[in-house]
Parts: sequence; C-alpha cells; structure tokens
Amino acid sequence: MKIFSQELGNVATNAFLFFEETSGQAVLFDAPNGAFDWINKINEENPFELQALYLTHGHYDHIFDGWKFTESGVSTFGHKDDQTLFEEPDTQRAFLFGEDEFKGVKINHWLTPGESLDIIGHSVEVRHVPGHCPGNVLFYISSLNLAVVGDAIFAGSIGRVDLPGGSMQVLEQSIRSQIYSLPDETHLLPGHGPATTVGREKVSNPFVRE
Ligand SMILES: [Zn+2]
Repeated sequence: MKIFSQELGNVATNAFLFFEETSGQAVLFDAPNGAFDWINKINEENPFELQALYLTHGHYDHIFDGWKFTESGVSTFGHKDDQTLFEEPDTQRAFLFGEDEFKGVKINHWLTPGESLDIIGHSVEVRHVPGHCPGNVLFYISSLNLAVVGDAIFAGSIGRVDLPGGSMQVLEQSIRSQIYSLPDETHLLPGHGPATTVGREKVSNPFVRE
C-alpha cells in the first residue's frame, strides 16, 4: 500500500490517497480544493482506479472538490450528522475567503459508527468523533496501524469547537473514548498539519491528556 498526502486549499487541508499497487485500486480521504487535479496527476504516473471518496466531515475545506468525483462516478461516504454541511453549500459560504465556487457534495452512502468497511483489501473501522462538528468520523485501519481522523485531533492540538455544532465537552469525550482507546502506536493522520501517534498525544496534547 502506498499513501500519498498533500496539503490543498486555502487553509492547507490534508488529502490522503491510499493506493494498492497490486490491484491498481485506490481510495481518497477528503477532497480539498485542488484534490481532483492532484489525483489526476498521480494517476498519470501510477495508473489506478479510484474506488471511493471517504469524507471525514462536512466542512468546506475537506469536501470542496467532492462534486467533481461524484460527477465522474466515484461513490462518496460521510456521516449523516453533517448532511446539511455536505449538501447545503449556502451554510458555509461565509467561510470561503475568496475560494472558487463552492457546490457542496452529494453523499451516496451514510456511514454507521462501528461498521467495518472493506477498503481495497483492508478492514476499516468507522468511529464517530463529534465535537469539532456533529459528523466527524475517523477511519481506523488496524492492519496499517493508522487512523485518518479529520479535524478531531492534531499533533499538539485539537479541532476548533467554535464553529456551528461544535462543543469542547463533546470533543473531549470523543478523543478520550474513541481516539485514546486505540493502541498507543497508532499513527494519526489529521486533517491539518503533520501526523502524530496516539501515545504521543496522550502524554503531550495540551488540550486533552489521558
Ligand atoms: Zn473541519
């Protein structure tokens, strides 16, 4: 498995492309502004078939290019608690700061917390981690010892809780019950900034310590 990552868009949002060379299959986690072109560029050198787009949550900077993938037939996955954020772009226009036109994204499959997905040959556990927004989920891939966590937690920080639907109390509970319960050596791939590990955040995160 190859993992490509790239910061994209006006607030440097991470997109992650997981690419299985043996099968030629790939999936994308989050679709910031520019993700569609970025994916096509990688595809020129490493031909793959994009199986699905998994969205960690509904904020515009994570879903901006989502409609381009749905238009080209890629299935999208997200949590229903962010349905308004995903599907009603007017609710987020105030945050766009000169980005291109924002269209939102139609979700094809609503994720159920606790469900196990098969993502290009790997078993993936979906966990609900609200608090930054109502529908943030993480994707835990134990066989790869990593989790894609959206904006729940960052290296040395946590997601904003001052946006609509945010709550510090809820986020802290999510981090303790759904993230700090993962094995310490689990790599966390957040929506912004560098990767970290569960063990490192437990002892050093200034906002939520174990
Ligand atoms: Zn966010």
